[in-house]
Amino acid sequence: MSHLSVATRQGEKGPNVSFEFFPPKNETMDERLWECVRRLEPMAPHFVSVTYGAGGSTRERTHDTVKRIVTDTRLTPAAHLTCVGAPREEVLQTAEDYYEAGVRHIVALRGDAPQDEDYDKPEGRYTNVVDLVSDLRAHRPDLGKVFEISVACYPEPHPDSRGWEQDLAHLKRKQEAGADRAITQFFFEPEVYFEFVDKARAAGITMPLVPGIMLQPNFNGLKKFAKMCGASLPDWLHKLYEGLDDDADTRDLITANVAAELCHKLADGGVEQFHFYTLNRANLALSTCHLLGLKPATAEAA
Ligand code: FAD
Repeated sequence: MSHLSVATRQGEKGPNVSFEFFPPKNETMDERLWECVRRLEPMAPHFVSVTYGAGGSTRERTHDTVKRIVTDTRLTPAAHLTCVGAPREEVLQTAEDYYEAGVRHIVALRGDAPQDEDYDKPEGRYTNVVDLVSDLRAHRPDLGKVFEISVACYPEPHPDSRGWEQDLAHLKRKQEAGADRAITQFFFEPEVYFEFVDKARAAGITMPLVPGIMLQPNFNGLKKFAKMCGASLPDWLHKLYEGLDDDADTRDLITANVAAELCHKLADGGVEQFHFYTLNRANLALSTCHLLGLKPATAEAA
């Protein structure tokens, strides 16, 4: 690993970071989220995003969290919005509600297909995120112009992938529909990201492809998630967590170091933006930022 911090090598400003949170389910989780928000706020992220449960299951909680970020912090929120199987009007109304609440950035996602019977009759419902991105741009041109739109992308094949050619064509359609950037699914080998970027650029995808960096210290949880979303976990990662099932502190230290080392390698290849999947844990995101040399913004500078 280079001894120069990413921030030092990238000049005064350092890398551009963003953080993902999930909406809390209960009071304890609410406290943890807001502690995380408060502790990460001084890192002056480009934006912070809040996930949205499949089928709109966290609609209220996501909305409340994003709204509170607008009213109670100096952060710029991005609201995730999944669409598959949901009525078009309902999804666009949710986007308008976000706009009214002061939100100007949507992370537009297809989401996982619902298993209920309505999904077989998608009339008036979304089947595809490209349509959502187009609608966000066209449905209310006044809103369409002001929304910043991020989408997801996959450096390793998503379980629904129909092959690289189709994946890249699909990502390009998201760009053509109006996406401003794509955030990647997590990965652990820098080559996975760089090879994906090369393929995407060759396919005419020009938007920023921001690496999503996972901060999950529960390796058993990570294994389950990786299996579901098609991400691979290298052997060296398995070995690092071996024997640590009952040692959360050591797993935390390893997680932050693995994330920081990955970011350093990505920065060596020219990456200047990182999106952290924080899982609402301040200590991991903060220590990773510090390992990258990012310093909290001072009150005067903020
Ligand atoms: P897409 O990119 O549209 O499709 C997923 C895969 O299917 C890709 O491989 C794509 O190429 C292929 N595909 C789909 N349609 C076509 C087509 N017409 N032609 C060719 N190939 C096609 N889930 C949540 O429930 N809530 C969240 O808040 C959330 N946030 C996320 C944030 C990020 C940054 C990422 C990476 C994922 C997130 N997810 C979230 C997970 C996501 O919802 C799932 O991965 C879902 O299965 C796919 O949604 P998508 O928008 O990425 O789909």
